[in-house]
Amino acid sequence: MDARIVLLPGDGIGPEVVAQARLVLQAIAARFGHQFEFQSHPIGGCAIDEFGTALPDATLAACRKAQAVLLGAVGGPKWDDPKAKTRPEAGLLKIRKELGLFANLRPIRVQRQLVDASPLKKEIIDGTDILFFRELTGGLYFGDSGRNPHASGEEAFSTMIYNTGEIARIVRMAAEAARKRRGRLTMVDKANVLEVSRLWRQVSQEIISKDFPDLKYDVVLVDAMAMHLLAKPKEYDVVVTENMFGDILTDEGSMLTGSLGMLPSASLGSPGPGLYEPIHGSAPDIAGKGLANPLATILAAAMLLRHSLNLETEAKAIETAVDKVLDAGCRTKDIASGGPSLSTEAMGEKVVEAVKAK
Ligand code: NAD
Repeated sequence: MDARIVLLPGDGIGPEVVAQARLVLQAIAARFGHQFEFQSHPIGGCAIDEFGTALPDATLAACRKAQAVLLGAVGGPKWDDPKAKTRPEAGLLKIRKELGLFANLRPIRVQRQLVDASPLKKEIIDGTDILFFRELTGGLYFGDSGRNPHASGEEAFSTMIYNTGEIARIVRMAAEAARKRRGRLTMVDKANVLEVSRLWRQVSQEIISKDFPDLKYDVVLVDAMAMHLLAKPKEYDVVVTENMFGDILTDEGSMLTGSLGMLPSASLGSPGPGLYEPIHGSAPDIAGKGLANPLATILAAAMLLRHSLNLETEAKAIETAVDKVLDAGCRTKDIASGGPSLSTEAMGEKVVEAVKAK
């Protein structure tokens, strides 16, 4: 396969971790006989410094022409001035909007080798493997909002709004994914209170009964889900929900694993390229010191192969390589629990070796 992959290393540790993911993708291309063409473009703070905007037109144009985009992270203290005309995060919001990325996929997989890094008890989290689908371009974060004068001072409002099409496309995507996994789909809402949730429930129910009767489907209220994630996370397979509930639940879920440096994510739309990134930020406190864990970005590269290039075997090859490296006791400082640790580059090299070794 020939594929064009755009790399957006960004700021802080972004360039360090993306460099390692690129080496892993090159090892995959060599092992499986693919041609991956890489192009690197600025986004975030470094783009503001060079071009005065967090998402230069040339970066966006290159992304549109690519099959997939791999992003590091953006931001840092240098660009934190609240009075600044533009901020690094504006680049992220714009690229998601421009590429129509309506589904955010967040796998929460507890690596058995790192089970002790979690703040939760081993017997509760061991074996947890959830794939969240969070709607990314609608709901409360994008509805009408504003302020009005009020007798007591002011009133403010934010509107949660969804239409049938927006709900249907992500529920379908999540249902397809559940079919390829363990066959269970959970829809999270607040239908006891919110009309918009009642539409989610209606649309989901119709799609599942008509096109996915083979799935084990259930609905859970968001407040109950917040508890279930901590009490019985192993029960869940694929979870689909709207933007704000997903924002909160996926961050809660990430704590099950105990390590930011291990978790990838993907944002998908259609048509057009998917965007893949680690869930962590630019970690300015450790940037340039060789301390960053590159595994989240390497696992994001595995998601890229799976979801944008349809290369399931190659995606699994990366995930297996990461497993082997962890089995062999290789750790970066953030997951070493005070024991010996490898640099960012050394960890990347270990994964490359494991990919090559088959
Ligand atoms: P952060 O995720 O960058 O860092 C939080 C803590 O986790 C830090 O102590 C950091 O050293 C550690 N950490 C993060 N990733 C790690 C890795 N791969 N290996 C080892 N340790 C790691 O969050 P923050 O400190 O709140 O934010 C820093 C900057 O990143 C801010 O400017 C923020 O706006 C930005 N940010 C960007 C994104 C993104 O680009 N998607 C996401 C979150 C935060």
